[in-house]
Amino acid sequence: GCPGRLLELKGNIRVLCRLRPGTPSSLVSLEPGPGGTVTTCYRGHQRRFRLDWVFPPHASQEEVFRELESAVLSCLGGYSVCIFTYGQTGTGKTYSMEGPPEDPGIAPRALQSLFREMGTGGQHRVTLSMVEIYNEAVRDLLAPGPPQRLAVRQGPAGQGGIQVAGLTHWDVPNLESLHQMLSLGRSNRATAATAMNQRSSRSHALVTLTLRTASPSRGPGTAGTLHLVDLAGSERAWKAGAAGSSQEDRDGAQRLREARTINRSLLALGGVMAALRARRPHVPFRDSQLTRLLQPALGPGATAVLLLQISTRPEDLGETVCSLKFAERVG
Ligand code: ADP
Ligand code: MG
Repeated sequence: GCPGRLLELKGNIRVLCRLRPGTPSSLVSLEPGPGGTVTTCYRGHQRRFRLDWVFPPHASQEEVFRELESAVLSCLGGYSVCIFTYGQTGTGKTYSMEGPPEDPGIAPRALQSLFREMGTGGQHRVTLSMVEIYNEAVRDLLAPGPPQRLAVRQGPAGQGGIQVAGLTHWDVPNLESLHQMLSLGRSNRATAATAMNQRSSRSHALVTLTLRTASPSRGPGTAGTLHLVDLAGSERAWKAGAAGSSQEDRDGAQRLREARTINRSLLALGGVMAALRARRPHVPFRDSQLTRLLQPALGPGATAVLLLQISTRPEDLGETVCSLKFAERVG
């Protein structure tokens, strides 16, 4: 890792931007690199957005992870790190976060890097939990048996934080068992067809890794956490609708409901990040299940990285501008 970059990251929100590969367009142009920009030309109106990092077109999975590795490893020092993939359905959120087996994404690379760094000394105890938020219902993706809706409660007074009643936390002895648990969780994630993308996921998926160290120099119980969050598609509600037979209408109404809840929770996430960035005294964590769950992880001193996925297709331009506006608000 690069210590300089790590210091910059601590206690901050960083926004990185990656393009979905495809034919580039004169409507979306890039200046890659640190402090890079994305310029859009939408309805004859040109706008330039500055981000903390813009990846060049066709950036590799390795290139993306290189920018995240020092933040990931900082959780070994007891820090809290959240990495989000944000964007319209089909822009590569899941590709970036998970990746295909032959070209793994952020999650598998992060876990491998953490386990490599921890070595075999056994000073760390690693636990894993994995949930999905679908239509504001929180489900445990690793619990045995049929999925149950979990209640999210405020923790005991004085202790702060949030409790998810009945959520399972699994001890992870090694990298191999971690990968097994992740793929189990992934296969339990609810998916539904939409007009946008047959296999698109309409849920947020949260992987939480807690690293406790018993090292005397750091004091007992120091816990770092890594949250890897594959957010549901950010497209506006009207796009997800469907019309046709009455069955399709019912499906369409369901899709519309989903899209509205997703939009609300992403708006809540944006509100929380904007409040944290401006160091406002009131941070509206309670506005959605997503932000309630992440409240302990987004406190002072935490690092949040938003990987914004955008499309260069002309027909997606409206959504691309919306995503960039979201990034502008939080970053
Ligand atoms: P999302 O999760 O945002 O809906 P996906 O990750 O499912 O999008 O990506 C949509 C499609 O594009 C998938 O078939 C995926 O394999 C492909 N894809 C996305 N990003 C890349 C990339 N950087 N390189 C190659 N294929 C990609
Ligand atoms: Mg996806």
